[in-house]
Amino acid sequence: MKHFTFQPLFYKVLNKPVSPKPVGWFAERRADVGGSRTELLDTFLKLGYLSHESLTKLKARAARKEVPAAGEALVSGILHPDAKGWVLADTLGIPFLEVDPAAVPLSLSELLPEAIARENMAVPVSREEGRITLAVSDPFRHGAFSRIEEMTGLSVTLVVCPAGTITRILERFYPEALPIPPGEILGGAIGREEAQEWLARGRGRRLAEKVLLHAVEAGISTVRVYPSGRSVAVFGDSGARRSLLLSFPIRFREALVGSFADLAGLSTGRECVVESTFQLETETGIRAFRISVLRGLSGVETVVTVIPDLRSVIALDSIGFHPEQTEITRRLLSMQDGLILVSSPAAEGVATTIYAMLRESYRAGSRVVTVEETHRFRNDGYIQLERHEVEKRFGGKWTRLAETLEPDALMIESVSDKKELLDLVHIARRGIPVFCGAQGVNLSRTLETLFSLEVDPFLLVRVVRLVMHQRLVDLLCPECRRAVPAVPSLQFVGENYREKLETMVQEVTFYVRAGCPRCRGTGYSGKMALFDLLPFTPGVQHQIFSDEPLEEKLARIVGENLRSAFPSVEDLLRRGMVTFDDVFPFFR
Ligand SMILES: [Zn+2]
Repeated sequence: MKHFTFQPLFYKVLNKPVSPKPVGWFAERRADVGGSRTELLDTFLKLGYLSHESLTKLKARAARKEVPAAGEALVSGILHPDAKGWVLADTLGIPFLEVDPAAVPLSLSELLPEAIARENMAVPVSREEGRITLAVSDPFRHGAFSRIEEMTGLSVTLVVCPAGTITRILERFYPEALPIPPGEILGGAIGREEAQEWLARGRGRRLAEKVLLHAVEAGISTVRVYPSGRSVAVFGDSGARRSLLLSFPIRFREALVGSFADLAGLSTGRECVVESTFQLETETGIRAFRISVLRGLSGVETVVTVIPDLRSVIALDSIGFHPEQTEITRRLLSMQDGLILVSSPAAEGVATTIYAMLRESYRAGSRVVTVEETHRFRNDGYIQLERHEVEKRFGGKWTRLAETLEPDALMIESVSDKKELLDLVHIARRGIPVFCGAQGVNLSRTLETLFSLEVDPFLLVRVVRLVMHQRLVDLLCPECRRAVPAVPSLQFVGENYREKLETMVQEVTFYVRAGCPRCRGTGYSGKMALFDLLPFTPGVQHQIFSDEPLEEKLARIVGENLRSAFPSVEDLLRRGMVTFDDVFPFFR
């Protein structure tokens, strides 16, 4: 049998291999083990493992026999069993851990078979690379720990934990079975035999996990659990298609929703909406999900969204820039400093754009911190926070966040007011590149906001790299779009665009939307972002210092330096991907 070793742990002592025989351990007690035995007894007193009275007696007796009080406590047999484990562990240099059962990640339950965990009162409480930390009540089951090392291929570090805590972790790890008799499961895209096996092996939580992993594999973006007739159904939604994955008799509704919530580490109480983001490990990596449990008048339902992995989704040349815009943006991004501001009439799509820029300039190893309203993508290696967490941890202060997290780049999906924007200008001034989104009706208004900040304009132009305004247009469904013989009216078309449109009318076919099963009758197949860009080139910086009144000055700067979205609009129209009506605002 492999010899079992203790690993260095958290904050305490460096352990040596422990002899499997506990005999003589008192004599061999190591001098560098932290904490005096008396201190330990005082802790027991505090935890109620010992009474004042017995502690006094104990100390007296130990003094008489000239032995350590802790040793006397063991011999006298007055200690609570948990406290005994503690004395033994502490003497050997095994730390005692007070762990909050609710804080132990549920994913750790997969490491050990339930039977082994229960039999040895041993539960994993954390996992680092190649190592698990096992909380145990009895640290002398060497045989079992060696078996666990062999079985998991991980080296085991021990901590001693009260038996009551371990029992509570076991209850969380292996909850009561989802009480669905196998015969009652109705299969859909997932076979009933498969679902039965999941339930048999890992109960509801296993079922929920497998359903979600199935969804990821099948390209399903949303899994919903809700009543459908007399059953409760699990539906998978992949954007274009909805499919029934599984269904159960309606009386299992609460249990089924509970299984998904449990998997996400949520406790579903009486609140109407509980939301959380969680991760599952798959063979190909980590996948992230967002769960909402809704409790309404008609009962409880849940929606789980697969948070797309950004690696496969977004690149700078896929977000709607035309080639000239891509090139300018690339050049500015390569400077890796300053502030880049993305304004947009609605928040939708801003995070996507900023992520594409971040991915262009910050590769693996960079410390990128992002703050989103809610997580939409998972980006491996980024520190992704939601705004409410920033409110909680940093009082909503961007400067505090930047000082604490020291990012290589910072993204704020949406600033809500000028004060926040000003804070970000100062962060960028101190050398941290900042990407931020802001609500705005058009580029000129966004610029006006920027130049109304209470900051020296000289400093501002040195810090700002790029201001862009983003608008989303709907893309026509290619399956059902309809060509129209009618041509757009030139009325209301802006002077600058009139000639261009006249040429286009001669050369291209215009389309309108229809509707088909693929686009669920909407006539659209997606959205694309189009951008007006104002790069803060040396020329622009220079113009800003002219003596003209601000408004006129900005109008002139925009007029002369704007890299407008128009080439993208023209391209989309020529390819029949948008209706004229939808892009009409770009012609004004
Ligand atoms: Zn269609």
